[in-house]
Amino acid sequence: DDGEDGFMPFPSPSMSASQSERRWGDTSSYTPRKILKSWFKLPNGNWDLVKILSTAGTESVVSLTDGKVLKVKAEDLIPANPDILDGVDDLMQLSYLNEPSVLYDLEYRYNQDIIYTKAGPVLVAINPFKKVDLYGNDYIEAYKRKTIESPHVYAITDTAIREMIRDEVNQSIIISGESGAGKTETAKIAMQYLAALGGGSGIEYEILKTNPILEAFGNAKTLRNDNSSRFGKLIEIHFSETGKISGANIQTFLLEKSRVVQCTEGERSYHIFYQLCSGAPPALKERLNLRRAEEYKYLSQSSCISISRVNDAEEFRVVMEALDVVHISKEDQHSVFAMLAAVLWLGNVSFSVIDNENHVEAVEDEGLQTVAKLIGCEIEELKLALSTRKMRIGNDSIVQKLTLSQAIDTRDALAKSIYACLFEWLVEQINKSLAVGKRRTGRSISILDIYGFESFDRNSFEQFCINYANERLQQHFNRHLFKLEQEEYIQDGIDWAKVDFDDNQDCLSLFEKKPLGLLSLLDEESTFPNGTDVTFANKLKQHLAPNPSFRGEREKAFTVCHYAGEVTYDTTGFLEKNRDLLHLDSIQLLSSCSCHLPQIFASNMLTQSGKSIGGPLHKSGGAESQKLSVARKFKGQLFQLMHRLENTTPHFIRCIKPNNVQSPRLSEQGLVLQQLRCCGVLEVVRISRAGFPTRMSHQKFARRYGFLLQESIASQDPLSVSVAILHQFNILPEMYQVGYTKLFFRTGQIGMLEDTRNRTL
Ligand code: ADP
Ligand code: MG
Repeated sequence: DDGEDGFMPFPSPSMSASQSERRWGDTSSYTPRKILKSWFKLPNGNWDLVKILSTAGTESVVSLTDGKVLKVKAEDLIPANPDILDGVDDLMQLSYLNEPSVLYDLEYRYNQDIIYTKAGPVLVAINPFKKVDLYGNDYIEAYKRKTIESPHVYAITDTAIREMIRDEVNQSIIISGESGAGKTETAKIAMQYLAALGGGSGIEYEILKTNPILEAFGNAKTLRNDNSSRFGKLIEIHFSETGKISGANIQTFLLEKSRVVQCTEGERSYHIFYQLCSGAPPALKERLNLRRAEEYKYLSQSSCISISRVNDAEEFRVVMEALDVVHISKEDQHSVFAMLAAVLWLGNVSFSVIDNENHVEAVEDEGLQTVAKLIGCEIEELKLALSTRKMRIGNDSIVQKLTLSQAIDTRDALAKSIYACLFEWLVEQINKSLAVGKRRTGRSISILDIYGFESFDRNSFEQFCINYANERLQQHFNRHLFKLEQEEYIQDGIDWAKVDFDDNQDCLSLFEKKPLGLLSLLDEESTFPNGTDVTFANKLKQHLAPNPSFRGEREKAFTVCHYAGEVTYDTTGFLEKNRDLLHLDSIQLLSSCSCHLPQIFASNMLTQSGKSIGGPLHKSGGAESQKLSVARKFKGQLFQLMHRLENTTPHFIRCIKPNNVQSPRLSEQGLVLQQLRCCGVLEVVRISRAGFPTRMSHQKFARRYGFLLQESIASQDPLSVSVAILHQFNILPEMYQVGYTKLFFRTGQIGMLEDTRNRTL
């Protein structure tokens, strides 16, 4: 009966991987002599389960799994758990909590296609990269009736529903992990369960159909994931008082628009472009003057047109059907496709040099003509918008010709804006359709599917924003688990002050402090006409150097110490991406179009630019839409998101990618370990060493270890027996706390008592 002594977690973020490793290895109560099996790190970095043959002084003789016998330092051995704990479904049940034991447990399960494991309150999901038999109605039914207890997305979703009803509190399911780890699939699995349990009105069908639409417009093939989401998403599913789904609302974050005009070799632009080119029915093809994907520069530049095992034409039919389901009219659908075709044709617009100052003019070819027709403007106006810029000097208005690179930037900026506006508009239409139960009387469950922490060889503005978001979410995670922990300690009257807890507040302040924080300085520099990526980097170094989470690097780089590790950012393009400007000429062009979507886009852009980031915006001095910087808008969205999440009971799912080649059955220890650290799973477990993660009632403790007492004691009440045991075993006072009903222990203490007990029995 091990019901009560679990390891309860609470996390500490601000620790580097190597520090965390050291702490994990540091098991002060552990003497290798007492245990037969241990973990030993091989030169290739993998852990081997070794047998200890003998120990003398600080050295042990061990035999490796391949039979080799080796003399090793005792301190290089990390305790392994007894066989009976192989594959436990909650990492908290492990007697010895250390990295190799955690990895071993996850791998042991993964090899049997058990991809879900609990780490205390957190669900860990390892991407199987193949169909696993864990889903569908039979499973849903079993989790609903609680005939299966094994950790699962269904189980956590079931808990969310029950707690929503029981506590009358909104719930959230927060899914994180690297690209390709399985977040989006996990979100869909959770939605499936919600739809099955809360369905009935038919709206659940509509909600599920938003997935193919958003994936078509917001996902793309990348080198890491064939179906990578290039935006963050929060879907809030509303329930009526009777527990039935009554509607939903979707919020998206930070769509990667640069992908529309540019993508890395071997990657693709958004799925919808390829789907449209290969799946549009002949009449539509003709109306949009559509060609094969290969013929569009935006699509052909990365030498990747198709994805293996994906039929774009078939997917297009799925998307069209889904658009019907969410009540997007045929007319609107046609407008949407026209905008997509316009973007593609824009990419084919070329320019010819017209004078010896390298000024250009858009070539009046099929590309230009088709764009004009699709958005509904005069060819001449389009030509002007793409190759000139109106400027105001005093009361005079003059027209400046653009150089080739300026013209290309203008064209690409227009294409990106049209696409981003289209995406936003689509989400808005979907939300209108899903807001059926207008009056929101009941409760909600929100599912957050957002990009995890990213650290590449080269990190840019996108990683900067993404990692900032993750820093915020990590704090949310910490605070929540910390609160849970604290509540239990206080309830049992133990000395809470003895638990140390690090926060990532330092790093968050580095981002958010005003006026001297990363975000403020970025915005400030973005408003300076002469600001460049170099002056920005220098300004950071000048003002932020004393901050322990910051380090200046050579030239245009700086390093931030995130909870998940250090990341060095290259400031190239930061200001440009943050300003994200579209010239007023382009906006005016859109507003003068005869088609309704371009008009809507233009008016949205103009209302959004109400709040300006101030100051003259561009060296060239052209008239530009003064708008909220990308970083500031993102920060605002993030605060709003955190505010929403704070009013919910959170449930955390951490997705893990077992290998980088999207292959089933392959698990790379180093890679998994790194993610466990990054997404806080190991931190949850690690910090438990700093607190009192093992709890046992006085009664149970006395019953379990009482027989080990060598001297009889006067009083037989459980508390007295317990205290006598603690004394006999010389358990140091800082290693435990006596609560009103329970004993609380630091990690490792119970393992030691258990070893003694097992040897005695
Ligand atoms: P992320 O959203 O984290 O980038 P995805 O959810 O898109 O990752 O998953 C990437 C791919 O991994 C999916 O396209 C799918 O092939 C596979 N995958 C993820 N989760 C599962 C699962 N539970 N079962 C089967 N395959 C999965
Ligand atoms: Mg995704």
